[in-house]
Amino acid sequence: QMLDEETGIRGYVISGEASSLQPYNEARPLVAQDLDNLDRLAGRRPEIAADVAAARAVTGDLDRFYARQIALVRSGEAGQAKAQQNVLAGKAPFDRYRRISTRLLARSNVIVADAQKSERRTLWTTLVLAAAAGAGAIAIALWLLLSVPRRIWSLYDVERSLRAAAERGDRASRSLAHVEDAVILLDPDGLVRYWNPAATRLLGVAEDDALGRPLPELLPELPAVEELLATEAPLTATPIARDGSERWLAARESRFAEGRVLVLQDTTEARQLERTRSEFLATASHELRTPLAAVYGAVRTLLRADRATDQALDQQLLTMIESESERLKEIVEQILVSAEVDRGEVRVRSEPCALRELCESAVAAASLQSPPGLELRLDAPEEIVVACDGARLRQVIVNLLDNAIKYSPGGGEISLRLQARPGTAVIEVADRGIGIPRDAHERIFEKFFRLDPEMRRGVGGSGLGLYISRELVRRMGGELRVHSGAGAGTTFSVELPREPAFQEPVVR
Ligand code: ADP
Repeated sequence: QMLDEETGIRGYVISGEASSLQPYNEARPLVAQDLDNLDRLAGRRPEIAADVAAARAVTGDLDRFYARQIALVRSGEAGQAKAQQNVLAGKAPFDRYRRISTRLLARSNVIVADAQKSERRTLWTTLVLAAAAGAGAIAIALWLLLSVPRRIWSLYDVERSLRAAAERGDRASRSLAHVEDAVILLDPDGLVRYWNPAATRLLGVAEDDALGRPLPELLPELPAVEELLATEAPLTATPIARDGSERWLAARESRFAEGRVLVLQDTTEARQLERTRSEFLATASHELRTPLAAVYGAVRTLLRADRATDQALDQQLLTMIESESERLKEIVEQILVSAEVDRGEVRVRSEPCALRELCESAVAAASLQSPPGLELRLDAPEEIVVACDGARLRQVIVNLLDNAIKYSPGGGEISLRLQARPGTAVIEVADRGIGIPRDAHERIFEKFFRLDPEMRRGVGGSGLGLYISRELVRRMGGELRVHSGAGAGTTFSVELPREPAFQEPVVR
């Protein structure tokens, strides 16, 4: 560009033609532009800064010299001549410029070579890094390819075994929810971790209130339970009071690494049954002993060798032996029948039975037992025939009459009423005896139940009569009911269905 400037000025000075200035005019802005570029480059490459500054200075000098030359040529022929004389004055700065530019060129070659070298280095480094990164990526991909499926499988395995364990736990707790006994799981700190519905029923504490709490807070009787466990006697039980009633608990436990499981069984009913059984044994033995003692005494008297012959006494003793043996037979019979009822082996027949006749016979039989002061009355306005087991029904009526006599210590009237009602025949046995409190109305039909088991009133029984009677009546399709209040007398009613064929009274 500097050569173009110089050529343009020289041509203008020689020719005076403005067009000769064209190369100068075109090169000038390009020179300024190049100097600016060099300035920017010098900022990054300090080793050329001095030459760039020198180049700018010398181009400045040349610029000013060219401007003077142009002005001289423009001023006229004399000026042009002067300018032509001055031409050589431009040589020195131009030579200076040439040296500087040669140096700059050499330096720029070094810079270019440096840049190329560093570019190559950068390229190689990049290539090496890229290759290393690629290899790394491939290695990671391979590792993932090999290890991820294994990891997923092992996670799946873990998840599957956890799920199986959870399902097993869930099944176990669902099964324990249906167990009749209270099952309580305690952790090593003695806190409740599982509490089944039976525990809620037995101990009266909801599962949500029990979980996480120490057992002694929920079961204040725990010391007694622990004592029970220490005795290692599985059949013993300890009482607890809940909701105003007493329950008996038997306890068992299993210890393991994560705590212990306590199983509490409600043995109240078994205990009750056991008590009833032993009560029955006491009652039955008592009942059997009384007639047995009478028979034994009579026989001993009859066998005495030294005794004078007394026919009347012999007769009396033999009669007593007969009646007491009869009583013994009855008691044993009742025990056997109740066992048959329990086993469902009692069969009742279905045959036409004339009820008025049956009632007359029962009253006649009961009158034999009836003490003085007791009046037995039959109120049977009409004969009614039903389908039933006559012998068994007679047994029921006799039993009701016997009870009415036994439990009317103050005497009075006992009435046996027979009535026909729509579709049924009803036989009622009413007494004015001691009565039965309301809360015992259902219980008197239970096996072995007696209102006065200690026989404080002196009357005894097996406690089986009403149980057997109700079962027999039910098997004949009827029902046995009681209406009574303590001290107000008692009425038992036997209601039997009337078969259509037997509904019309049969006139005899
Ligand atoms: P038991 O052989 O003891 O009489 P039952 O089964 O016939 O046995 O009667 C059960 C209980 O019902 C009796 O022990 C008695 O307490 C009560 N009971 C039965 N009948 C009467 C009655 N007519 N009056 C009062 N109590 C009665």
